Amino acid sequence: MALVLDYHLHLWEHGPRPLEATVEQVAAYCEAATAAGVTEIALTEHLFRFRQADAVLGGWWDDHRPPALVDAMGRWWASEQGGDLDQYVEAVLAAKAAGLPVVLGLEVDHYPGRMHQVAELLAGYPFDVLLGSVHWLGPWGFDNLADEAFAAEWDARSVDSVWDAYTTSLEELADSGVCDVLAHPDLCKVTGRRPEVPDEFHARMAEAAARSGMAAEVSSAGWRKPVGEAYPAPPLLDRFRRAGVAVTTASDAHGLSRVAERRGELAGLLAAAGYDELVAYAGRRPRPVPLAGAPAPGSDGAAAAPPAGRPPASPVRRA
Ligand SMILES: [Zn+2]
Ligand SMILES: [Zn+2]
Repeated sequence: MALVLDYHLHLWEHGPRPLEATVEQVAAYCEAATAAGVTEIALTEHLFRFRQADAVLGGWWDDHRPPALVDAMGRWWASEQGGDLDQYVEAVLAAKAAGLPVVLGLEVDHYPGRMHQVAELLAGYPFDVLLGSVHWLGPWGFDNLADEAFAAEWDARSVDSVWDAYTTSLEELADSGVCDVLAHPDLCKVTGRRPEVPDEFHARMAEAAARSGMAAEVSSAGWRKPVGEAYPAPPLLDRFRRAGVAVTTASDAHGLSRVAERRGELAGLLAAAGYDELVAYAGRRPRPVPLAGAPAPGSDGAAAAPPAGRPPASPVRRA
């Protein structure tokens, strides 16, 4: 059966707020996804938002420099805290048990030299899929452009050095074997600054995914950022396909209104790159699923065309 996936979803916006997961909220995400033609979602909250992660990993930035970035990271980390991993897992499992089309996931950052601690922390939970992300280069949250200290750091570094550091971190994350899917694989382009010839970096990213057996995520989140395009860039997506790297699709929504956002355009990118299947996960095990047809132009994901000769599986509604 063809599945249409949104495999990167957060229940909570960033910043200080109560962080409680409820079955009702998960059900609302499933309803919004279904209305947009998505047939399976993965809840993938950030690991760092949970007190269990803070207990093991909090302070990882302390032995870094410069002090301005170390301070900014410490402040930002503190502002993101408050979740209970057990409670999050229980809520998603309860939704699953109720028959909702959701799998249990997490978005896991790269903690250099500490990925064994991450693996130990997560080993006791029944995750279906783990996303692996690079958001930080040392204490620099390079994609957190709302923070002045983080945003200013872009002017202190060369674009090539940033891309090189990012790619090295991605390679180490992939080689750690802790996660299943590379989230927003070329996040280093977030500001729109890129090397004149990104090929070398793209080749390293595709090789890292291929040798680790990780899938890559095709995400509409980049359209909401200064770069204004999906992750990954078409030349990188082409390299993933030629390297035999499987793909998921994702909105990286941090709220209900963006669930399944621009999924039709993602389907168009996949078709242009020659992909005819996605990969879904259960219990950390991948399985290929046929790529459903792209929705009609202008429908922004709401009206997937049924396979020829077969009726749609469910009525199509607009969110
Ligand atoms: Zn992310
Ligand atoms: Zn995310």
